[in-house]
Amino acid sequence: MTSLSTNAYNVDPVACQRFYINGRWIAPAKPTFMQVINPATEEPVAEIALGSSEDVDRAVSAARAAFDGWSSSPVATRVAILGRMHDLILERKEMFAQAISLEMGAAISFARSLQVPLAAEHVRIARDVVSQYRFVSVNNGTAISREPIGVCALITPWNWPLYQITAKVASALAAGCTVVLKPSELSPLSAQVFAQLVHDAGVPPGVFNLINGTGPKVGAALAEHVDVDMISITGSNRAGVLVAQAAAPTVKRVAQELGGKSPNVMLPDADFAKAVPLGVMSAFRNVGQSCSAPTRMIVPRDRLADVEALAVATAEAIVVGDPQSDATVLGPIANEAQFNRVQTMIIAGVESGAKLICGGPGRVEGFSKGFFARPTIFSEVLPQMRIAQEEIFGPVLCIIPYDTIDQAVEIANSTPYGLGAHVQTQDLDAGRAVAFRIRAGQVHINHPAWDPHAPFGGYKQSGNGREYGVQGFEEYLETKAILGHG
Ligand code: NAD
Repeated sequence: MTSLSTNAYNVDPVACQRFYINGRWIAPAKPTFMQVINPATEEPVAEIALGSSEDVDRAVSAARAAFDGWSSSPVATRVAILGRMHDLILERKEMFAQAISLEMGAAISFARSLQVPLAAEHVRIARDVVSQYRFVSVNNGTAISREPIGVCALITPWNWPLYQITAKVASALAAGCTVVLKPSELSPLSAQVFAQLVHDAGVPPGVFNLINGTGPKVGAALAEHVDVDMISITGSNRAGVLVAQAAAPTVKRVAQELGGKSPNVMLPDADFAKAVPLGVMSAFRNVGQSCSAPTRMIVPRDRLADVEALAVATAEAIVVGDPQSDATVLGPIANEAQFNRVQTMIIAGVESGAKLICGGPGRVEGFSKGFFARPTIFSEVLPQMRIAQEEIFGPVLCIIPYDTIDQAVEIANSTPYGLGAHVQTQDLDAGRAVAFRIRAGQVHINHPAWDPHAPFGGYKQSGNGREYGVQGFEEYLETKAILGHG
């Protein structure tokens, strides 16, 4: 590796330029390289090798060769390995937190308290699910056998890098599938640490493989590969559609976790003093770079002024800055392309005539470097405005007024997305009634605690399939009926 500046987290430069295939770190077939940029400093912190279709062939053939052994391994073996993986994530939690903070700018306290522990939860839940799962049931002489689908290619994004990896890898391994992981090329460091952890946990060679590379090269080669049985992507709608198109000729299973524009419906009886600050903080969590961030606050028109005041006070108190500082709540946007996209959308909001009540275009005051976006709130947003329809994936909140509950539900359902949704009320019956009317894969009433068993995924253009818990695990299974089984 060429000498690069600050490497606060001890990224292994050799591993960064190798892929984990068939239980070993090996050199790419035709290496090309790409720098990993720390979004807080805009300085390179590592250099990764980018793969090619030859590397994909090697990884897929290793996964294929390992499939018979792993898919027929006793459940107890998989449970023990997942248990070790879980323990090792917790043991190495500081290393993961530092890697995530460095590769995508997460505030270190956020990486420590959420990015890493929630990622570990996916492994624990997959272990628990498989340990209790009934793979075969017999009814009226017909057996229904649930069997691992085969070799799975898993493509993940940069926003919750480790969490998205464990959501896919843990369920796939638990189900008895073998995998090839392609993490985001923009934030690949925690994936390197994860691959070493998988090795150390005793996952047999070929069962888990990692290749770095770009979407159009390595991602596309995985999607079209004839020997891949399933491809699961978390990312943008653009990439999700391209993956499905590339996968179609080989009729593989395609799972897509894509974008969102999640509504947060405040019913007239909500406890606004509590619900508005929580709503703002949820929308801005992870600098708004969460696919289910509730970025459309839908509020009764006669409470608009109260909501605006509460929202602005909350946003102005947020500490944005150096991700390494314990006091920081929001670090920078994860990369330059995303920072530019957020700026474009803030300007689009201003130009559309929405009322800017907090933040705006440009960097946070005091920063001449780093992708630090200003927490921004627009009010009096119309449901059809671009900022209310398109995913921004940054700290930008739209407040949209409504006059009737029917209208609130209509606005909530008025985008092409259907991933997350929130309802705030002191009347649980009213909250449930609205929750059932919203077309989204996960609805939260009054900001409940995160439930790692709750299936997560999209209606409409937010995706196909579910992750987490039993439903997430079952995505990696085929169904066989054996008639005459007796
Ligand atoms: P992205 O689509 O650019 O990249 C995601 C992954 O897909 C990366 O690994 C990338 O290399 C790969 N990719 C890109 N083009 C590809 C192609 N043609 N073929 C195969 N793979 C390809 O998205 P991103 O910028 O990394 O992530 C942000 C997006 O992801 C947002 O739109 C967000 O809503 C979405 N997201 C969704 C969820 C969810 O669970 N629904 C979770 C996180 C992020």
